[in-house]
Amino acid sequence: MKRALITGISGQDGSYLAEHLLDLGYEVWGLVRRSPDCIRWLAPVAHRIEFVYGDLRDAESLAVAFQKAWPDELYNLAGQVFVPTSWEHPAETFDINAGGLARLLQIVERQKPDTRVYQASTSEMFGNTDGARSEQTPFRPMSPYGVSKMAAHRLVEVYRNRGLFVAGGILFNHESPRRGPEMVTRKITRAAARWALGDRTRLKLGNLSARRDWGFAGDYVKAMHAMLQTESPRDYVIGTGISHSVEDFVRLVLEELRAIPEVSDAPPIDDWVEIDPRFLRTGEIHDLRADATLARTHLGWQPEVDFRQLVRMMVRADVAAIRQTAGQSRHNEVVAASFTRRPQAPALQIA
Ligand code: GDP
Repeated sequence: MKRALITGISGQDGSYLAEHLLDLGYEVWGLVRRSPDCIRWLAPVAHRIEFVYGDLRDAESLAVAFQKAWPDELYNLAGQVFVPTSWEHPAETFDINAGGLARLLQIVERQKPDTRVYQASTSEMFGNTDGARSEQTPFRPMSPYGVSKMAAHRLVEVYRNRGLFVAGGILFNHESPRRGPEMVTRKITRAAARWALGDRTRLKLGNLSARRDWGFAGDYVKAMHAMLQTESPRDYVIGTGISHSVEDFVRLVLEELRAIPEVSDAPPIDDWVEIDPRFLRTGEIHDLRADATLARTHLGWQPEVDFRQLVRMMVRADVAAIRQTAGQSRHNEVVAASFTRRPQAPALQIA
């Protein structure tokens, strides 16, 4: 049985990858900084995962975790991934995203150099170059986040040249109902779900004309695994090849909201969305689109979920989740009310 260690297992990608590897018969280890109990989507598989403590900023903790897990494959998915946060905390972002990989690679080289390593690289490394980006496109990062990921990506190359099996997956934006709520897609679908439940607050967004190549995270983790099964390691661009604007995303969300029978209504975009300059970015990347030809030809990888299916999945999941929460809080109110009434009940019976 192969052993895999995943850093960032409690995040969106980590959880999908854990499920995929468990399906393939792997023994899965997850690096965590605190108890993963609160991660809702890990709950169904948590009992099949071995969790070990570790912090990417702390080499000693990583060495101990690595020794326990003794992995055949190491997936480094942990990191500080939000671009605006990288402007607020550039040094910390760098330490986690580039320093973290440096610590891991040194441990692999010293302890078990036959471990295969996957590094989560990103399309943010490309910056504003024209057209679809491939493995040959030069990097021009626009934010501390992009620079930190590019530095890590360069480490992939230099350690590969020293003989380690390290592959960098240059993944374009990938989303799902598990996406962090600060990212634009999830921010929009969560707000739409709140609207469906009666919340008429306007949705504040930044640049509606920014374009991204949005795919489904569940498809992308399969590419991560495939990259570590090849004869020799290399980097791969992963994306759908089609980009859409933030505005396209909002419009489709509203369409999908109208298509839910119990909702069947949605606001006009102009009544709902408000541009808030706080969400505009310095160093904005205007358009990101992947040329994933190499992944298709070498790995046989291609996405299964298209843009509309992705939006539908996210909208429906958020509407269902918010209904459940609302139902739960109504249930809690009823229970609380019955408790406050309870002292009177015995009195009445006794009488
Ligand atoms: P990124 O591509 O990794 O930065 O992913 P995000 O989901 O954070 O942002 C995608 C695009 O949406 C960027 O071009 C943002 O400028 C744009 N955007 C517009 N409004 C918002 C917003 O309110 N929040 C976020 N996160 N992004 C926004």
